[in-house]
Amino acid sequence: MSATPPDLGPAATEAAASAREWIAAHGALGREFVPPLGINPQGEWVDLLREHRWLCLNWPERYGGRGLSGLEAAAVDAEFTGAGLFRPALGMGESLVGPAIIVHGTDEQKAYFLPRILDGTDRYCQGFSEPDAGSDLASLATRGVIDGDELLITGQKVWTSWYWDATMLFALVRTDPAADRHAGISYVLVPLDRDSAFKPCNGIDLRPLRQITGEAHFAETFLEGARAPLFNVIGGLGNGWKVSKTTLGNERGGSAATQHVRFEIALAKLIALARDRGLTEDPVMRQRLAWAHTQVQLIRYGGLRTLAALIEGGEPGPASSVNKMLWSEYHRAFGELAMDVLGADALVSSPEPSKEASAGGPYRPSRWQSEFLGSRSSTIWGGTAEIQRNIVAERVLGLPREPSI
Ligand SMILES: Cc1cc2nc3c(=O)[nH]c(=O)nc-3n(C[C@H](O)[C@H](O)[C@H](O)COP(=O)(O)OP(=O)(O)OC[C@H]3O[C@@H](n4cnc5c(N)ncnc54)[C@H](O)[C@@H]3O)c2cc1C
Repeated sequence: MSATPPDLGPAATEAAASAREWIAAHGALGREFVPPLGINPQGEWVDLLREHRWLCLNWPERYGGRGLSGLEAAAVDAEFTGAGLFRPALGMGESLVGPAIIVHGTDEQKAYFLPRILDGTDRYCQGFSEPDAGSDLASLATRGVIDGDELLITGQKVWTSWYWDATMLFALVRTDPAADRHAGISYVLVPLDRDSAFKPCNGIDLRPLRQITGEAHFAETFLEGARAPLFNVIGGLGNGWKVSKTTLGNERGGSAATQHVRFEIALAKLIALARDRGLTEDPVMRQRLAWAHTQVQLIRYGGLRTLAALIEGGEPGPASSVNKMLWSEYHRAFGELAMDVLGADALVSSPEPSKEASAGGPYRPSRWQSEFLGSRSSTIWGGTAEIQRNIVAERVLGLPREPSI
C-alpha cells in the first residue's frame, strides 16, 4: 500500500516517529477494532486513543487535542493507515463544529463544548440544507427568534445525516430576516434531548428518509419552536455564515496523504473478484481496471499536491475542489465498473446483505451493490460536482463569475 507520503519536513517526520513508536507499543489492541457505522466510535481502542491524544489531532492540546498542523496530522495518519490500524474520527463534531468553536467561540464555549465532543457526550448532525436551500445555502428560511435567553427555532431542514446517532444538531438559522441574506444568519448548537431517534423532542421531529440502498442514513428535520440557549450561538448573532465556513486552517492536510487508500483497497478487491470470474483476460475489462488504477493514483497525487501547497506555507484553497471532483466522479465510475464485473449477479439481491442494508431496508443489496448505489451521492454531498466546477472556473481559472439570481 502506498500510504507513506514523501519527506514532509522535520516536524511531520517527528510526529510520524512518535506515532510509529506509540503504535509499536499499543497498536495490537487496534487490530480487533471494527469501524462503526455512525458517529459514535466506542470501545477500548477508542478510549486508548483518546487517553493518549490520538483523536482530534488538529485541536489545541489544552482542549484535549494534539495541536498538530495539517502536515503533521497527514504524517500521523499515514503511520496508522500503513500499520493497518483505524484511527476513528468523531464525525462532524470533530471536523466541523470543533474547529468553528475553536476559532469563533468564547473561552466559556470552548471549555464547555469541546470536552463533550471529545468524550462522545455531544455527537453532532448537521442542519444546514433545506428543501429550498441546498447549493444556494444562503437562501435558507428556518427562523430563529430570541425569547429571553433562548433562541426559538422554527423551520425545516433536510438530508440530516447520522441523525440516529446524534445528540446535537448544529444548524444555520435566520435570526435577522431584514439583514442581507448572508448577514442575517446565525450558527447555533441545538440539543436533540431525546432517548430515541424516532421520538420528537425539544420541538424537533426527525423523519427518516429511505435511500436507494434500502437504508435510512438521513432524515428530514422539522423544528417547531425548538429551544437552544443563546449561549449555544457560536460567533455571535448574525455571524453564522462566517462561522460555517471555518474548518481549522490546517485541517485539510489531515487526510490528504491517505484519502486514496480506501479506493485502493476497494479496487484490489474488485480486481480479485474479476480474476475469480475469469474476466482479467478480457481486453476491455483489463483496460477499465487499468483506468481505475490510474485514477486512484491521480487521487493520491492530488492529495500530495495539497500537502505540497501546505509545505510551501500556502493554503490548498479552491484547488481542493479539483480533488473533490476527481474522487467523487471516480467513485461513481468505480461503482459502475463493479456492477459490470458482477454481470447478471448485480441484478439480484444478496443472501449476505451489506452492513448498511441489515439496518432493515425493503431489499438486501450486497456490499458491491451498496457501493454502487451509495457512490451516486458522492457528487452531491459536500458541494455538487457542478458547484465544484463553478469554484474551479471562477476562483482557480479566473473566469467571469456566474451572474447572481
Ligand atoms: C449523502 C448525503 C448526505 C448529506 N448530508 C447532509 C447533512 O448531514 N446535512 C445537511 O445540511 N445537508 C446534507 N446533505 C445535503 C447536501 O448538502 C445537498 O444535497 C447539496 O448541497 C445540494 O443541494 P440540493 O440537494 O438542494 O440540490 P440543488 O442545490 O437543488 O441542486 C440541484 C442540481 O442543480 C445543480 N446546481 C445548483 N446550483 C447550480 C449552479 N449555481 N450552477 C450549476 N449547477 C447548479 C446542482 O449541481 C444539482 O445537480 C447531504 C446530501 C447527500 C447526498
